[in-house]
Amino acid sequence: MSEELVTHFGGCHCGAIRFQVQAPPAIKAIKCDCSICEMKQNIHFIVPASRFKLLQGEDNLTCYTFNTHVAKHTFCKTCGVQSFYTPRSNPDGKGIMPHCIDPGTIKKTTLEVFNGENWEKSIEMNPEIQQRSKEN
Ligand SMILES: [Zn+2]
Repeated sequence: MSEELVTHFGGCHCGAIRFQVQAPPAIKAIKCDCSICEMKQNIHFIVPASRFKLLQGEDNLTCYTFNTHVAKHTFCKTCGVQSFYTPRSNPDGKGIMPHCIDPGTIKKTTLEVFNGENWEKSIEMNPEIQQRSKEN
């Protein structure tokens, strides 16, 4: 099954980081409540890495990791905004912040809550999430 994809553009607050991502106009976003996502109010949608392209700002990115060090919490060195990152659930894909996408191309956002405080159990109950970084 393949959904219609559009090209969304986005980036951080100061404009140093800019990217494009191909995704449906109707986004399925995840709100995670693990220790860091709760502090950051991390809402993201997952795409295969091949559908994400960093257009500028590679040198302006910095990265924070902890615990399993699988998730790569990349953010802008200048403004501190995380506009995309590499999620633990899909280390071969990208997690994109829908609130960092330029207005106009996202037609609908459906929010799902992921209980990241109990990560192992939650991913076992929602195996579909790990398919989101795979091409279909
Ligand atoms: Zn910035």
